[in-house]
Amino acid sequence: MFPTGWFSDPNRVLFVRQLLVAAREGGSVYTAAGVPSMLGRWKAAVKKGVYLIHHRQAERMLLGRWRGPDFQRRGTCASRAQFRVLQTSWAWQIVMRAVIGQYTELSYEFLYGVARAMVRRGQLGPAHPGSCQCGRCSGDGAIVADLALASRDIGILARGIIAGIDLSQSNEAQAVDWGQPNSRIPQAVLDAAAPYRARIMQADSVMEMADALASGHPGNFGATYYGSPNAQLQGGIVRLTPNGGGHAESRTGVVLLRPVKDPDDDAELLAATGFFVDGSWGDWPKGDRNLRYAGGVYELPPGSYVAPASDHAIGLRQGGECWHSQVVQGWRPSANSGVYVPGQEQAA
Ligand SMILES: [Zn+2]
Repeated sequence: MFPTGWFSDPNRVLFVRQLLVAAREGGSVYTAAGVPSMLGRWKAAVKKGVYLIHHRQAERMLLGRWRGPDFQRRGTCASRAQFRVLQTSWAWQIVMRAVIGQYTELSYEFLYGVARAMVRRGQLGPAHPGSCQCGRCSGDGAIVADLALASRDIGILARGIIAGIDLSQSNEAQAVDWGQPNSRIPQAVLDAAAPYRARIMQADSVMEMADALASGHPGNFGATYYGSPNAQLQGGIVRLTPNGGGHAESRTGVVLLRPVKDPDDDAELLAATGFFVDGSWGDWPKGDRNLRYAGGVYELPPGSYVAPASDHAIGLRQGGECWHSQVVQGWRPSANSGVYVPGQEQAA
């Protein structure tokens, strides 16, 4: 079984973006406050001969191995993608010496619950297992903007036993439970997550995605275009195709798939660009994991593939969304930004 769990909700995505603009935190990649301009980062990298930037190298440097792939059984894909974005961002910044910290496993369960029950205030309704016929449930799932907001406004939880709840390992039932309307996430859990937040920014285009990834900011991409459950890796590549419903997976790097004559030609550059994708369907896709790119051959971790930027452009045009995040220790959203204040959504 290959569950998904992202749905298209452009009005809500726009709403979240406008909240960020109102909070003077930009909203898009090129305007994100507090982050040096990312415009042109990918182009500049290619001109210097840097053809492959894979954030997960940081995790391998810290752990001595790749993290194992995720395996979702409910519609938690977008929260798992957001957790991997944050996990990867944290590792990347430790390796880059941008933060002093320890590599810690983070929780997707918390993000899923916060996004549905707090950020979205239970509006998505109850969710029961996929085969449920009760007629009252609206299904699992989340949108990326709500998850990004959860990590910005409420916090990021490290794995462990917190308030008697065992989150030392994946606990999808807890995620689904916390994501139900009227669920109560214990205050001790919220307190544990509060010190770690993410700066978040939306990518409006694949060039913004490439520049954010070249700047070390992983992304969470949700769309109706995604790698088919039946896909086979061909030289490390899987194409994104419409497969029914919607799915979110993390983007953790950018690569030049073949040499370009003129990196200043945006169309030529993007036609040769691919993004690293990490899925949540276990050791999938199978096939040839040796990515052929402009600099040679690179072996992908299990559960990963590279998809062309041009496929992502179609996904974005078809109602998709991509949000990039950077974990920041001790950072708080700007004073009184009020992106999450109970009651505000009705007023806005
Ligand atoms: Zn039901």
